[in-house]
Amino acid sequence: MAVRTGWITIAQLPLVFLLAGKRNLIGYATGTSYERLNWIHRWVARCMFITATIHLGYFFRTWGRYDYIERKLEIDVIARTGLGAWCVLLWITLSSFAPIRGWRYELFVVQHMISFIGFIVMVRLHAPKKAHVYVWVPVAVFLLDRALRIIFMLYTNLAIFHPGRRHKPNGLFTCNATFHGLSDKATTVVILDPPFKWSPGQHAFVSCHSLVPLQSHPFTITTLPSDNSLEFVIRTQKGGTEKLSDHAWCGQVWTGQDRTGGGVEGEPNSHFPPTLLTLVG
Ligand SMILES: Cc1cc2nc3c(=O)[nH]c(=O)nc-3n(C[C@H](O)[C@H](O)[C@H](O)COP(=O)(O)OP(=O)(O)OC[C@H]3O[C@@H](n4cnc5c(N)ncnc54)[C@H](O)[C@@H]3O)c2cc1C
Repeated sequence: MAVRTGWITIAQLPLVFLLAGKRNLIGYATGTSYERLNWIHRWVARCMFITATIHLGYFFRTWGRYDYIERKLEIDVIARTGLGAWCVLLWITLSSFAPIRGWRYELFVVQHMISFIGFIVMVRLHAPKKAHVYVWVPVAVFLLDRALRIIFMLYTNLAIFHPGRRHKPNGLFTCNATFHGLSDKATTVVILDPPFKWSPGQHAFVSCHSLVPLQSHPFTITTLPSDNSLEFVIRTQKGGTEKLSDHAWCGQVWTGQDRTGGGVEGEPNSHFPPTLLTLVG
């Protein structure tokens, strides 16, 4: 049973990765978006943690009967890497709960990636050779997802791939955005003649590295493709969205104490040079 639960655990690993990607193969096959699949990703990962705990528990109970746990960990590298993998999985499970995930999202993403690389390495060292396929499939799924995201990102954002656009970009990139501050709580971002088509309700990942380096945030598109204008209404929160809001309002003259209630003079930002934005649909 101890070994069998090990196999059950490792067999779930490809599914965890298949459900995690933004360019999601299961999503393509079922017509479901990645964020709907993401909660299944979290629950499959939690199931995997439970079976891993049962796997570890059986061995520890057996070794414990002979007061042998410490000695076993000292002499057996398989036992050590197994315990190491379980500890990393415990950390991944705990740090993925909503309050911790939502606390500093960018920090969560970075530590999540570092943790699962650590987990994969530990599992690779722990598992027998015939189980290595369950390690390499997730690695391939992850790399494929990254490669597809980069390809789509380059295709969407490089001007060279969109020569026929009416609002021709000046440089290398396609998307120049204008920012309009609606109130201190919301900003609209407008991109004229966008380089791709979309469906109502779809969202895009928006990056603006000159204002918010190395971040990309999902926002729902509020216009139709027939409008030939891509617009987002962005609620101002405490991180990157606050910087976008500040950019939208900078240069305005404030007559009130805050940005609400019409205490603003001057036109919203359209007279500022458009800001370069990258998008991934
Ligand atoms: C599919 C989808 C569509 C969305 N559409 C809109 C929209 O149209 N308009 C809008 O105002 N907001 C939308 N959001 C929410 C928006 O993405 C977050 O509010 C924004 O990323 C917060 O950025 P921040 O750095 O200012 O957040 P912070 O102040 O740092 O955090 C505020 C909250 O936002 C979450 N958050 C931070 N970064 C991200 C991220 N990259 N991805 C997901 N959540 C994050 C945090 O966990 C936290 O709970 C959407 C989110 C999703 C998942």
